[in-house]
Amino acid sequence: MYTKTINFSHYSSIKIGQSTEVLILEKGDTIPRDRYLIGGANNLLISPTPPPLMMLGKDFATIELEGELLTIGAAMPTGRIVSFARKNNLSGFEFFAKLPGMLGGMLAMNAGVKSYEIFNILDSIEIDGEWRAKEAIEYGYRFAHLGGVATTARFRVIQGFNQELLNELVALRKNQPLDPSAGSAFKNPMGDAAGRLIEAVGLKGEQRGDMAWSQIHANFLVNLGNGSYEDALYLIELAKERVYNKFGIMLQEEIKIL
Ligand SMILES: Cc1cc2nc3c(=O)[nH]c(=O)nc-3n(C[C@H](O)[C@H](O)[C@H](O)COP(=O)(O)OP(=O)(O)OC[C@H]3O[C@@H](n4cnc5c(N)ncnc54)[C@H](O)[C@@H]3O)c2cc1C
Repeated sequence: MYTKTINFSHYSSIKIGQSTEVLILEKGDTIPRDRYLIGGANNLLISPTPPPLMMLGKDFATIELEGELLTIGAAMPTGRIVSFARKNNLSGFEFFAKLPGMLGGMLAMNAGVKSYEIFNILDSIEIDGEWRAKEAIEYGYRFAHLGGVATTARFRVIQGFNQELLNELVALRKNQPLDPSAGSAFKNPMGDAAGRLIEAVGLKGEQRGDMAWSQIHANFLVNLGNGSYEDALYLIELAKERVYNKFGIMLQEEIKIL
């Protein structure tokens, strides 16, 4: 293992944060217990005082197809997984397109689009060195209780990359803002949409400093230039308070605040 200085105002998708030392894990390292693991930082909001951080190094960016079993390292970026699936004519991974992150972050978030979620196609995950079947892991809408560091996952693949499905899913992204964000800020409450609720309390487009609830999609907290952690947090708290006061619904963050 070794440390690397990462500037989160460049590295994170929402472009907030400062330069922080991150421990990079290599194959065979003992995994520290006192550090927070990050992936591609596409679902994170980093405070000025984050906990000690670690991430998986390039050793874990592997992908290997043996018969019908696809084994992928947790540091593999989603874009490369889609390319591999296309090249090898494999079905099931189309929704990874335009879903930024690494496999480990996808697993921990049970990331997905519409009814396509990573746990639907998953077979098993290696967590802290032990293989666990999907059925032994508690998971649901945008969460999976992995209880440790996922280093590798296995998928049983079927043939037939579906370019049409990929195009459809990519087209859905047209209503998403292009400004830096961490995707949806809140989970959708059961039977409702967080974006609808934020809009209904008059916060669509609401700006504080350089942070705003997007004009395009109200559940996207966007950075219009030099957005700060404090302004992001202010808008998150404001949305929670207004939605609770008007609808009695407590919005739950999808983004992880560190
Ligand atoms: C423009 C945009 C659009 C998005 N659209 C969607 C969408 O449609 N659907 C969706 O689900 N998400 C969406 N997201 C969010 C993001 O793409 C996913 O949450 C993705 O899975 C994050 O991966 P990451 O590697 O960046 O994880 P990070 O943001 O770095 O971490 C996320 C969580 O995963 C944990 N984690 C990371 N790696 C591991 C590991 N190896 N083992 C255990 N835990 C780990 C971290 O501790 C953290 O809790 C979007 C984000 C952006 C910026």
